[in-house]
Amino acid sequence: MVFFKGCPLRCVWCQNAESWRADAEIAFKSHLCIACERCLERCPKHAIATPGHRDPKICGHCFTCVEACPSGAVTRFGVKRTPEEIVAELRPEFPLLKESGGGVTLTGGEPTLFPEFATSLARLLRSEGIQVTLETCGFFKLELLRPLLVELQLVLFDIKVFDGEQHRLLCGSHNSVIKENLISLAEAGRRGEGPPVWPRLPLVPGMTDGEANIRSWAGFLRDSGIPFLTVVPYHPMGANKRGWLGLPAGPDLRVPGDREIEAVAQLFFTKGIMVFKPGEEDFQGNSTNGQAPASYAA
Ligand code: SF4
Ligand code: SF4
Repeated sequence: MVFFKGCPLRCVWCQNAESWRADAEIAFKSHLCIACERCLERCPKHAIATPGHRDPKICGHCFTCVEACPSGAVTRFGVKRTPEEIVAELRPEFPLLKESGGGVTLTGGEPTLFPEFATSLARLLRSEGIQVTLETCGFFKLELLRPLLVELQLVLFDIKVFDGEQHRLLCGSHNSVIKENLISLAEAGRRGEGPPVWPRLPLVPGMTDGEANIRSWAGFLRDSGIPFLTVVPYHPMGANKRGWLGLPAGPDLRVPGDREIEAVAQLFFTKGIMVFKPGEEDFQGNSTNGQAPASYAA
């Protein structure tokens, strides 16, 4: 996977807050700090009052404190790389990827914020015989993405909150362009003029799991000729990262239980939409064979 940094959305349940801003950031993991004060001593701007207390107005983002910290308490999120450098780093993995039929996924953050870069990278990977998948939040200008789309094997397309106003409140923007893009990509895929598109719904209790939301997405997918999706249960694995970055904590959310997931899958299923678990998808086009995965079968 290649993680891009920068995202146009701000979903309140996001577990990857380090991917929101496009520039490199400094994080502080207090549980790793051994209070050696090397960060204070080495900072050329004297921007650190005490360990973990960096004045962002004074900080020059030289990352000297990151290099000086012996314990990893001061951490950098984000490095600059050229497409060529990324390919060089990934090249040792190429034989295994080819043998296993795998590929490289461009994800984030939001790769479509950088269409020229993503296209160059995808083109280089393809020239090496590596399949490329794009994972996107769907918030992009489709016209800017045409050169990238021809390089892709698959588009994993996140859908979240169906109602536009609710989407704006929970994800930071209206979702009309997201819906339009999903329809356009699905139509292009069916005509053989673009890669197949596969929707993914994060199942976040109290946010995306409401019956009205599920019914609305099921109808939308059916009408768009996409009779399948992946449901991705929420997990709180990245919750600590907001604190490391000095951001306010997100809402207190719980992990959906198996019964809740199955109820959502059943609701989709009654609308003619097959639901897959993450990692159990059939991306090769057998998703419409009428066979639900055993765990989600009606
Ligand atoms: S990034 Fe550089 S200027 Fe900023 S706190 Fe660290 S050492 Fe100081
Ligand atoms: S250099 Fe690292 S371990 Fe030492 S005081 Fe600073 S943050 Fe803590």
